[in-house]
Amino acid sequence: MITDVHTHLFSCPHDFSEDFLGEAQHAHGGEIDLTVRHHEYAASAPPGTRTVVFGGKARRSGLWVDDRAVADYVQGKPDAIGFLALDPTVPGWSDELRYGHQELGLRGIKLMPMYAGFDPGDAAYDELFWYAEKHGLPVLVHTGTTFVSTAPIEWARPARLDPVAIRHPELRMILAHLGHPYEGECIAVIRKHRHVYADVSALHYRPFQLWHSLRLAQDYGVWHKLLFGSDYPFTTVDASVDGLRRLAGLPGIEGLGGLDRDEVEALITRDACALLGLT
Ligand SMILES: [Zn+2]
Repeated sequence: MITDVHTHLFSCPHDFSEDFLGEAQHAHGGEIDLTVRHHEYAASAPPGTRTVVFGGKARRSGLWVDDRAVADYVQGKPDAIGFLALDPTVPGWSDELRYGHQELGLRGIKLMPMYAGFDPGDAAYDELFWYAEKHGLPVLVHTGTTFVSTAPIEWARPARLDPVAIRHPELRMILAHLGHPYEGECIAVIRKHRHVYADVSALHYRPFQLWHSLRLAQDYGVWHKLLFGSDYPFTTVDASVDGLRRLAGLPGIEGLGGLDRDEVEALITRDACALLGLT
């Protein structure tokens, strides 16, 4: 069974500013409809796929999805697990955290530090991570590049989560997109912290970089820290699985073997819920 740890819930254009949508369209080659409909997601994933779903909050970049929309979306769907989202630069975030967790029953937290404009490693945000650690809420953090021109890349560096993991050793954390294109830095972080993982979402359409990154993960012996994710609606589960299997079939280069096919299959079917305490 597949567990997709990285999918969004968006309603277009309601959840976005004009600037955000304009840059998203530019990056994706024209008009895109980011509105998520469950039947379309299900049609592009194998039956029984388990899905982590979140919206996203980043006032500075013009993105805001109400957590209630996520709670409504996952209701009655036993295979869907809803996460709340937070922008800790906006007053009231701590109430939203408690409301999303205690009233809406959402089970993890999505953060977008670069989009929201904060340094996740800054101890000023420790209350958030302390709450997540105490209540067993996994935190999925966007790391790596973006199409939003005003979002500071520095705060998307995987190494900014190292001090968080040092201060909160029991916190389950997922660094999104393997930190692309800082995969080496991401591997350094997930390798040293027992409960820090990376997802491989939204990477298969850059096949050279993904092959290289997975080969690097293989060299460092961190296959078991990689989780499957799609980044729906930007791509689908089926396309992501196909992309990973295509890379697994590549022969490698002279003197250097390819990817371990069994490890690629294990990644695709890894039980992320058990690892994240979401059973
Ligand atoms: Zn995403």
